[in-house]
Amino acid sequence: MLAKIAVDKKEILKIYKKIAVDTHKGIQGHALLIGGSYGKIGAVCLSSKAALKTGCGLVTAFVPKCGYEILQIAIPEVMVLIDIKKKRISNIQFDFQPNAIGIGPGIGQHELTQKAFLKFLNANKIPLVIDADALNILSKNKACFLLLPARTILTPHPKELERLIGSWSSEEEKFEKTISFSLQYNVIIVMKGAPTHIVDGETIYKNTTGNPALATAGSGDVLTGIITSLLAQSYEAVYAAILGVYLHGLTADIAVPKTGFQSFIASDIIGYLGEAFLSLE
Ligand code: AMP
Ligand code: MG
Repeated sequence: MLAKIAVDKKEILKIYKKIAVDTHKGIQGHALLIGGSYGKIGAVCLSSKAALKTGCGLVTAFVPKCGYEILQIAIPEVMVLIDIKKKRISNIQFDFQPNAIGIGPGIGQHELTQKAFLKFLNANKIPLVIDADALNILSKNKACFLLLPARTILTPHPKELERLIGSWSSEEEKFEKTISFSLQYNVIIVMKGAPTHIVDGETIYKNTTGNPALATAGSGDVLTGIITSLLAQSYEAVYAAILGVYLHGLTADIAVPKTGFQSFIASDIIGYLGEAFLSLE
């Protein structure tokens, strides 16, 4: 059996950094969330809001044109950049230096979007979180694995993981394949599930928070925003992943006695982030 480090409150308190009293938004980290397509702008709304509520100083969202008003109205605190295309991302361009980028929520797999993502990957050197259809595009272009910046965080759910590393016939084999992928490309893999494991080379962390209330639309999009925000706040990549997954699960543990399992939705993860942070103070 592979050894796993249980991530409980004691471990988290070794990682968690309180906010300095003299900080300001300019040094609190700027996160860029890239995603959305026609009918799936909500995914990037959830990621962007989650990033803000996780404490980074500034958040910019890069979305197709159809997402402009939606984001500006839904989250006034978020700055919005738009693609040249109305319904999908086709050319990722921005003229500032974010501290971290999260890409994938709601992005879709249109041919133009695939090209745009791979072009972006070719040029990008900024700390990165890859999720959802950006992961699926990556899995279709295995030659591009070598383009991943060192310490990139990948956040696959089980189906996305299978597309990335291939199928497995036992739990042991699943972990072995994930570990060798992590070692070969020097990336961190958040194996989402119940529970979620974080694989950093041969080290496996097992999260201890969360419950079935998280099995709801947009839950993973929120996690991407949380982790990207922590990365933008200068947490080392594996710590951003560990703390992000812990906080995400903790919101559901705090909320469920009040909301029940069924009525908890992804926006509630964002709503309960404050209580989750307070429980670490
Ligand atoms: P996604 O499928 O991308 O929306 O991600 C779902 C998120 O919810 C992941 O972080 C999962 O670990 C979490 N999740 C889903 N179902 C459960 C469950 N039954 N117990 C705990 N966490 C879950
Ligand atoms: Mg997802």
